[in-house]
Amino acid sequence: MTYVVTDNCIRCKYMDCVEVCPVDCFYEGANMLVIHPDECIDCGVCEPECPAEAIKPDTEPGLERWIALNAEYAAKWPNITVKREPPADAKEWDGVPGKLETQFSPEPGQGD
Ligand code: SF4
Ligand code: SF4
Repeated sequence: MTYVVTDNCIRCKYMDCVEVCPVDCFYEGANMLVIHPDECIDCGVCEPECPAEAIKPDTEPGLERWIALNAEYAAKWPNITVKREPPADAKEWDGVPGKLETQFSPEPGQGD
C-alpha cells in the first residue's frame, strides 16, 4: 500500500504535504506533486494536511491511473522537501474537475 496524489493537486500544489512527510517521498512536477510508492511508509500523515484533499490511500477504488502516474513521475521528477509559495491562482483551480486531461504537465518542477 502507498498513498497517491490525485487530480486536484494539479495547479493547486499547495505543498503543505512535503513539510510533514517523515521520509521525504514527494517529487515535484511543473504543476503537481507525486508520491514515490516504494518510499512511502503509509503513515497517512500527509492526507489530512492537503488543503485540496488530493492525497488518497491506494486502497480507494478507481485510483489505478493515479497509482501508475505517481510511480512513473516519482522516478522522473526531482525530490521536494521544503514548501514554497503555491501558484498565485491555486484557489481558482481548486475543485475544477478533469484537470489531468487539460492541465497536467509532464515537465519536472524545480525541486529543493
Ligand atoms: S498539499 Fe495537496 S495540493 Fe498541495 S502539493 Fe501536496 S498534494 Fe498537492
Ligand atoms: S503517507 Fe506518510 S510516508 Fe507516505 S507520502 Fe504521506 S507522509 Fe509521506
